[in-house]
Amino acid sequence: MYEFDISPQTTDLLSRIREVVERELHPLEQRIAGRTFTEIEPELLQIRERVKAAGLFAPQVPSEYGGLGLGFREHGLVSEVLGRSPFGHFAFNCQAPDAGNMEILHLFGTAEQKTRYLEPLARGEIRSCFSMTEPERAGSNPTWLETRAVRDGDEYVIDGHKWFTTAADGAAFAVVMAVTNPDAPLHARASMILVPTDNPGFEHVRLISIMGHTGSGWASHSEVRYRSCRVPVSNRLGEEGAGFLIAQERLGPGRIHHCMRWMGIAERAFDMMCRYAATRELSPGKPLGTRQMIQDFIAESRAEIDAAKLLISHAAWKIDKHGQYEARNEVSAIKFYAANVLQRVLDRSIQTHGGLGVTDDTPLASYWVHERAARIYDGPDEVHKAALARRILRQHGLRVKNE
Ligand SMILES: Cc1cc2nc3c(=O)[nH]c(=O)nc-3n(C[C@H](O)[C@H](O)[C@H](O)COP(=O)(O)OP(=O)(O)OC[C@H]3O[C@@H](n4cnc5c(N)ncnc54)[C@H](O)[C@@H]3O)c2cc1C
Repeated sequence: MYEFDISPQTTDLLSRIREVVERELHPLEQRIAGRTFTEIEPELLQIRERVKAAGLFAPQVPSEYGGLGLGFREHGLVSEVLGRSPFGHFAFNCQAPDAGNMEILHLFGTAEQKTRYLEPLARGEIRSCFSMTEPERAGSNPTWLETRAVRDGDEYVIDGHKWFTTAADGAAFAVVMAVTNPDAPLHARASMILVPTDNPGFEHVRLISIMGHTGSGWASHSEVRYRSCRVPVSNRLGEEGAGFLIAQERLGPGRIHHCMRWMGIAERAFDMMCRYAATRELSPGKPLGTRQMIQDFIAESRAEIDAAKLLISHAAWKIDKHGQYEARNEVSAIKFYAANVLQRVLDRSIQTHGGLGVTDDTPLASYWVHERAARIYDGPDEVHKAALARRILRQHGLRVKNE
């Protein structure tokens, strides 16, 4: 039996959060065209203070660290509401990659790591980044990494080349995935190591331009080099060789939250499409919505968003009930399905808006540029489809090797 009811407390929380998103963040979007994240960050930090004062800050963070301590499914619903603005998650301190880093520090961090890294992250005083993908190796095969962390007494010496380290610009520390045990079985070779970005061995090479936007601060992606980067062994998160296990912990719930954030974006694009279809006249008294082709956009989008939300809700329920391992088919399915629903709904909404849709007068173009990557990060579509199909085929007696 699946549970779709939302408790009165959560309903109230969602409406308070939505009110903040509409009052504080939607007007801000009107003023940011052509400005970098760093330029608008002071305004966002002020909004964060008001979010804190309203008792809504860090919804996913356990209450012992000052958050709301929301459960997995409740936070998924919050994530949808916050997705209605590109800055929703940042304003509430549940943005990637910090949210994932807070989660693994909470689950695997030592007392010292929690004091030094988790507590200031949860208070929103510092930011962090996650450094796994390498330009020279296929990110789709995360067991094949070049970055090495070699033990030297009570230190690790890290050497490696990373890119797509999101939000490295201005981050206080990186969680680095590095091979510590090259001769161990594939999934026990790498460890996660905390590297303060003021370490002399941390080199910020460049901000990577994405579809014409270089970005800055939290809204950016960096190329980074680790050159003879020495950190104490006590900076390792969890056991040596446990990097993949911890990555799985980080990615499972993270995918549900990403998918719900995409549904928030899709809902906003959908609302905008419907509003425009109802009001933009092709000729006097004939709005766009009188045309069946536009009605088709609306009907298809509604059905696809609802289907995606049901799949996500079911996957979240299954993780809650049976754990991440049992829910891996459902998680693979939502990752590619929801990402593609998002792309299609955004595309239809832009199309309905005509020329306006590609301007920066609405958030649609920015969403289009920055959310194309949804089909690539956290596992490209093809990887999730192949994994899902292989597991299904196994039930039919065909074992296809993951080459
Ligand atoms: C906006 C953005 C933010 C990111 N943030 C971070 C971050 O913070 N930290 C971090 O470490 N990484 C991050 N990444 C990197 C991301 O995780 C990788 O891009 C992703 O894992 C894919 O790896 P790759 O780019 O090396 O593509 P490759 O692995 O080289 O794959 C290229 C393409 O090949 C196809 N393909 C791959 N495998 C298969 C297969 N088995 N069958 C068929 N086709 C296949 C897919 O179409 C894939 O897109 C980010 C990426 C983006 C775009």
